[in-house]
Amino acid sequence: MAPERGAVAFTVTGVSIFGPEDGPGGDAVANHEGEYEEDRQEVWLGICHGHSGPGGHFHYHADANCAHWHPDEEAGETWRDYSIDSSRSKSDHSPIVGFAFDGYPIYGFVGWDESGETREITSSYRLKDGETGYNGIDDYEYVEGLGDLDSCNGRWGATPEFPNGTYHYVTTFVNGEGDLGFPYFLLCYRGEADLANGDGGEGEPDCSGHGETWGPGIGPPPPGCGGQGGGGQGQSADSGLIAFPWIDSPPDSGAIVLSLLALAVIASARDSVTRFKELRITESASSTSALGRAGTIL
Ligand SMILES: [Zn+2]
Repeated sequence: MAPERGAVAFTVTGVSIFGPEDGPGGDAVANHEGEYEEDRQEVWLGICHGHSGPGGHFHYHADANCAHWHPDEEAGETWRDYSIDSSRSKSDHSPIVGFAFDGYPIYGFVGWDESGETREITSSYRLKDGETGYNGIDDYEYVEGLGDLDSCNGRWGATPEFPNGTYHYVTTFVNGEGDLGFPYFLLCYRGEADLANGDGGEGEPDCSGHGETWGPGIGPPPPGCGGQGGGGQGQSADSGLIAFPWIDSPPDSGAIVLSLLALAVIASARDSVTRFKELRITESASSTSALGRAGTIL
């Protein structure tokens, strides 16, 4: 399995791609699409199906083609002209959107079927009866053959960059029945992934999603995933707090004055100590061995 929460891949533009679940444990995209009401923690995905976690870790939960949509500046277009529909062309094979941590490419949602026709590629997951995505991954079931992709949301096949075929993941808007395209990017790794940066690695506590789960109204980080070690998603937010404690409470002039006063007290105390030592040296000047000892003290 890929980490349930937290980074599973990154885009060709260097942005993190997260798994389908957000902090409270729900499917972030299903929530965004209004499948259920998120009553545990407010989660909002922007127009690009991405948002920032604690620590400013921006990430995507689904592919809205923002990595490859560019405004036609000659025609006076700006990002205000972007819309998910305007960016969804189904006439050409999609470019590579990103790479999973096992190294396989992730393509956009348009690919070639077995007969070489260009069409939208679909996932093979669907919501279990009566579920909405509120419980995240647990609410979905994999149905072989429902869509085009395997249980990791990938497949083997030819692509423009790999005409002889390669394993690759596909970003999915819809499943084979036209419903939500869960898991949107990928749910597991077909290859071997280096997760040292993801879930802490073997024998380490599973800190995946810690960055997203650690927020107001949400429980504390799991044991071993705190500020001192652990590794994993939330590490960036965590170590940020440790490295820059003044971000939350910048020093005011009062604190600076107090610090200067403290320094002055320390400096004057050092003066007295020096004087005291000089006094001792003077008193014991008759004995060279005592002078040596005093010198050692100095
Ligand atoms: Zn998120």
